[in-house]
Amino acid sequence: PLSEAELLLRLPDRLFIGGRWVDAENSNTFAVFDPATGQRLARIADASPADGLSALDAAVDAQEEWAATAPRVRGEILRRVFELIQERRDELALLITLEMGKPLSEAQSEITYGAEFLRWFSEEAVRITGRYGPNPEGTGQMLVSQRPVGPCYLITPWNFPLAMATRKIAPALAAGCTVVVKPAELTPLTTLFVAALFAQAGLPAGVLNVITTLNSAAVSEPIIADPRLRKLSFTGSTPVGRILMRQAAANVLRTSMELGGNAPFLVFDDADLDKAVDGAVAAKFRNSGQACTAANRFIVHSTIAEQFISRLGAQVADMRVGRGTEAGVTIGPLINDSAVEKTSDLVQDAISRGANLITGGHSVDGPGSFYEPTILTGVPLTSNILNEEIFGPVVSIVEFDDEDEAVRLANNTDYGLVSYVFTESLARGERMIQRLQTGMMGLNVGVISNAAAPFGGIKQSGLGREGGAEGIHEYLETKYTLIPNG
Ligand code: ADP
Repeated sequence: PLSEAELLLRLPDRLFIGGRWVDAENSNTFAVFDPATGQRLARIADASPADGLSALDAAVDAQEEWAATAPRVRGEILRRVFELIQERRDELALLITLEMGKPLSEAQSEITYGAEFLRWFSEEAVRITGRYGPNPEGTGQMLVSQRPVGPCYLITPWNFPLAMATRKIAPALAAGCTVVVKPAELTPLTTLFVAALFAQAGLPAGVLNVITTLNSAAVSEPIIADPRLRKLSFTGSTPVGRILMRQAAANVLRTSMELGGNAPFLVFDDADLDKAVDGAVAAKFRNSGQACTAANRFIVHSTIAEQFISRLGAQVADMRVGRGTEAGVTIGPLINDSAVEKTSDLVQDAISRGANLITGGHSVDGPGSFYEPTILTGVPLTSNILNEEIFGPVVSIVEFDDEDEAVRLANNTDYGLVSYVFTESLARGERMIQRLQTGMMGLNVGVISNAAAPFGGIKQSGLGREGGAEGIHEYLETKYTLIPNG
């Protein structure tokens, strides 16, 4: 297998614009670091606002021809990239772990999930359909067809460097849109690697452009303000989503927004506790809790709370914190030191208000940005940790006594991405599907993401859906034509 040093030497480190690797204007660069060691991994091009607009120029130039390319051909290119990712799986897993920190086994799972968007949308590309039928008056035929939206700007976060990129790129390209992608400045290397695979798969120049920059706000604003851009798709925090929606309003730009979450994890007294504990470990500790779908508030029935806490505590005691490249490590670092500080502040705030610390509660000394897996119980409802996205490996537990109270607690948030419900009662499960205000739900399971399913939230968790049959419609416009009877 390739060593870390060999992998890093071979990585693309420039902007990908119009099918070519180019330096940033003024040859500016910035550094990318390994969150497990603090060591520098690479220096890559730092795009200027003018570079961003060059990338948009390239996407605009390529749009018409790409939209006219046969859906089967578009699909086959996506499928080829799916296959290239499988061939390069181990290298890519190492790269994800190096720049983002998650354990290698989780990087492999992300590759399985992230590559699946390419396969799924390679299949959806040939299923873009419409309808044709008489108008009610009987005087003509109504034709409804789907057209690609046009050039898109895709902004992705750092927590799933591959999957967040493919979840946007694949449906956009399948629909016939060209794109400019701007990965998070903390984890840009994976997207550059994937761009190289698209080039290898024969994607025409300009269909996919990648810009990396330390200054996303300054580079993004002129792109979003440009009337040639037709669509903005963003995954990241709700505050940044609000800023981008305001900018998009100027040109009435179409947007998809995958924003923050504050997922409730409900354990009823009729739950199977083995399932609940396994689900809790997956929903909370995967990616060290750095997922918008991470369980944020554990809402547990008071009669089973003690048992749930002790069994979860036993699992946490077996976890190993460390660099994701080391065998046996189950909890990698957080993305940087400010993430550790934020987690630490949330835990301290809860404790100061009266929460009990069962285990963990500290950052880990030495190089790298580590925080111990932590369990808090009896968390007062006023604690910040129940009202903000934690994005760290902290379980915070509140207890309830009846179902109405559980639902009230669960819905008491501006977010509405996902909820997790553990009950062996089908009737109760169905009531929860009706009553919980989230775009997604896991019933007796802690991880639900799937390329074939519509991912997305309600309330302030966002707009639109990614994946599933719905995902491609984010990149299609509906066109209606009336054809009067001759
Ligand atoms: P996270 O909390 O996951 O870091 P952010 O919302 O801060 O989420 O970042 C997600 C993405 O949005 C990143 O690619 C980042 O560079 C970009 N970003 C952050 N702020 C802005 C902004 N004001 N304008 C455009 N892009 C931004």
